Amino acid sequence: MISTNKEDLSLDLESLCNSFGFVDGRIEHVEIETQGKITNEFKIVMPDQKEYFYSWTYDLDSTLSDLRKKSLRKRMVKNQLHKILSKHLNKTLPWGSLTGVRPTKLARDLIMYGEMKEYLVAEVLERDYFVSREKAELVANILKNQKCIIRNDNLVDLYVNIPICPTRCIYCSFVSSELKDVASKVDLYLDALIKEINAVKDIIKDKAYIVRTIYIGGGTPTVLTASQLDRLLNELNFPVSEFTVECGRADTITEEKLDILKKHKVSRISINPQTFCKATLKRIGRKQENSEVISAYSKALERDFLVNMDFIAGLPGEKIGIFKRTMDTALELYPNNITVHTLSLKRGSELFDESDKVSDKDVAKMVDYAESLLTQNGYKPYYLYRQKNQLGGLENVGYYRDDSICIFNIDSMEETNTIIGVGANAISKRVYNIENKIERQPNVKFIEEYMARIDELIERKRQFFK
Ligand code: SF4
Repeated sequence: MISTNKEDLSLDLESLCNSFGFVDGRIEHVEIETQGKITNEFKIVMPDQKEYFYSWTYDLDSTLSDLRKKSLRKRMVKNQLHKILSKHLNKTLPWGSLTGVRPTKLARDLIMYGEMKEYLVAEVLERDYFVSREKAELVANILKNQKCIIRNDNLVDLYVNIPICPTRCIYCSFVSSELKDVASKVDLYLDALIKEINAVKDIIKDKAYIVRTIYIGGGTPTVLTASQLDRLLNELNFPVSEFTVECGRADTITEEKLDILKKHKVSRISINPQTFCKATLKRIGRKQENSEVISAYSKALERDFLVNMDFIAGLPGEKIGIFKRTMDTALELYPNNITVHTLSLKRGSELFDESDKVSDKDVAKMVDYAESLLTQNGYKPYYLYRQKNQLGGLENVGYYRDDSICIFNIDSMEETNTIIGVGANAISKRVYNIENKIERQPNVKFIEEYMARIDELIERKRQFFK
């Protein structure tokens, strides 16, 4: 669909073509650099075989760092391709030419490099990246609500991964095993995980790190039994500002498990209905009753947990009316945080091969409805990210009310703090704020390999955090 002579631009250009739905035509791109000038040449062949040629030349400031030059080249070529596709397909995209970047992170970087003033965020995103006014204002609002960011290389977050779920949802591509397939290995997985946590404790001591937050995610961590949870949480005895456990599926939450989370000072949990429509729940493979969600939620409130609920716009078979009813019910429940995802068709998920079951017709209206409903009722957006192949080229947004921001969500999305990831498929990110550099180190993906290679993984982690 698109070819380019520059390998490093290929993914971004392809992603922009996908966002426009440009599948039946062809584009050839060539970038030429001569004496500080960059020329981008495009040949576009439309489905009716008509050909069009475009060429732009601009100066590349030689005093910029390599990183800034690379980001400027990408921005220029994506903007040019955006102009061409927008003109020939007579279409605009909510996020304009932004692909493969987190819009809030981009805005923060531009402010940091002195290329944009904070009060001009919306204007600049609209003017320079063709972002719609609504989305540009959303980014500006989110930046205002992210005041908890502290850039300090000694402040770290700890992420613990439990990649096991009761059953698999059809839209999910996470590396996560169904409990029935790994039930006999869970205790052995915990042995390896605790070994890694203990090694991390030594790293934290050696580096004089301060653990700001802990997040246990997955998967579905509450798939563990009460005594397995107790055993794991016994090892996570850091005095933190925030301790989150993603319970996810209401059918895994019991009073006994909630009491254990409370005993270990967990402050936040996530109960993720995704939808309150019974027919949709069946369609997406989530064996969950709405009564279980309500019951888990009231038990969590009785124990004073802060609660987040996740929902998805664009689930198969859902029209705007069903989504509105789900959001109205969510508002009645009034959890501290509500996260509204837009369905993403992920390679590796069951739904990816059945994409004809999905429609993006109403999805923009759904996302708009959620935003106005929530913001008119006291919620504020505080983090945002985009994924590949999201319906309508839209986004995921986390909302909070009162003072209930989840610091870990901001740290991980904005990449402002080091995250030490433990467990199978966990990724550690080391952030060097002064050098403006991030290094990543993933653990192996599957629990069997993780258990078999735990000593080697611990050694790799020690080297990574040297
Ligand atoms: S519960 Fe969450 S992690 Fe598990 S399969 Fe469903 S969406 Fe994926």
